[in-house]
Amino acid sequence: MLYLALLTLTLAPSQFLDSEVSNTVRDYLSRLNLAPTRYSIVVTDQVPEGAALEHWVEASGKDRAIFLFDRQFLLHLSRPERRVVIAHEVGHLVPECRLLRRRINQEICADLISLQLVPVDDVVALLTKAVAMFRSYSEQRAFTYRLELIQKNWIPSGKVALRTPRLRRLPIRRFKQRYCG
Ligand SMILES: [Zn+2]
Repeated sequence: MLYLALLTLTLAPSQFLDSEVSNTVRDYLSRLNLAPTRYSIVVTDQVPEGAALEHWVEASGKDRAIFLFDRQFLLHLSRPERRVVIAHEVGHLVPECRLLRRRINQEICADLISLQLVPVDDVVALLTKAVAMFRSYSEQRAFTYRLELIQKNWIPSGKVALRTPRLRRLPIRRFKQRYCG
């Protein structure tokens, strides 16, 4: 009995996490009117960037998406912070973000889209945490830049300007794209 109770305690957070993640992804896709032909959600221990999205369009024109989340990374975050991560990954699927070529602009675009789903304060909190969590200079610089941009674009009325500087629009790439978290 004790063993069973311990087993339940061990399994429970993971199971809750998996269903929390898939419910949130589904909810955000529908709120953004996004409907990839097929998508899957994978929570694993092998996503070094914390979260990632793989998206590609098949020759038939059907699009496929795989949401990848690192379990340990998610468990280090609060529930509102996990929602920010998920909102950001779903944001990468928005066509206007996929049109962008430069990685940093794709990230900024996904951040701005995420503000339609989660409070700006939560986005700022997560990016602040990310600056501390990711140790490499280039990652820290990218997170700091994204954080500053969100803070600069924040309008007190509660609206966020969906304009980002110097974004170059290019045709949607048909090969497999992987976006970072
Ligand atoms: Zn990203």
